Amino acid sequence: MAQATEEKAERLQRFLEGEDAPCPICGYNLRHLKGTTCPECGAALELRVGSMDLKLGRWIALLISLVIPVGYGVVELFFAVLWIARDIISNGYTGQLGLSFSWYWPLMVLAGLTGALLAAAIFLRRRFWLLTDQLQRLWLCSTFVIVGAAIGVYFYSVYT
Ligand SMILES: [Zn+2]
Repeated sequence: MAQATEEKAERLQRFLEGEDAPCPICGYNLRHLKGTTCPECGAALELRVGSMDLKLGRWIALLISLVIPVGYGVVELFFAVLWIARDIISNGYTGQLGLSFSWYWPLMVLAGLTGALLAAAIFLRRRFWLLTDQLQRLWLCSTFVIVGAAIGVYFYSVYT
């Protein structure tokens, strides 16, 4: 264990002997680093392999487009619970919940479906990262269009 740590430290220092590399935290040039912490900010450092093919932007955009309807559903559900609680506290339980559920269930279905897609996007992230540029864009655009259309239809039906 201690030996493995030492070897790692040695590899890091050997790499930085001939290489300009910024500290990922403060940007200080780590060339000729001694030890395994940044001399400028004290951040613990390690040697890692990166890939130019990992384009997180598209995946994050996909997550955001799914998080918005899920988040909206959660917020609405929270206010519905508050509303019902307030109604019961002020009027007692009358057998009616004082809230129209007709426009709640489509929102909950939408939030549930996008929640499932969000879980899939996180769980299957490596599959997404391995897709070609074209397929990543296709997935992203389709998600934008479908989620956008669902939100549009929802608001149109609620507020008209
Ligand atoms: Zn630093």
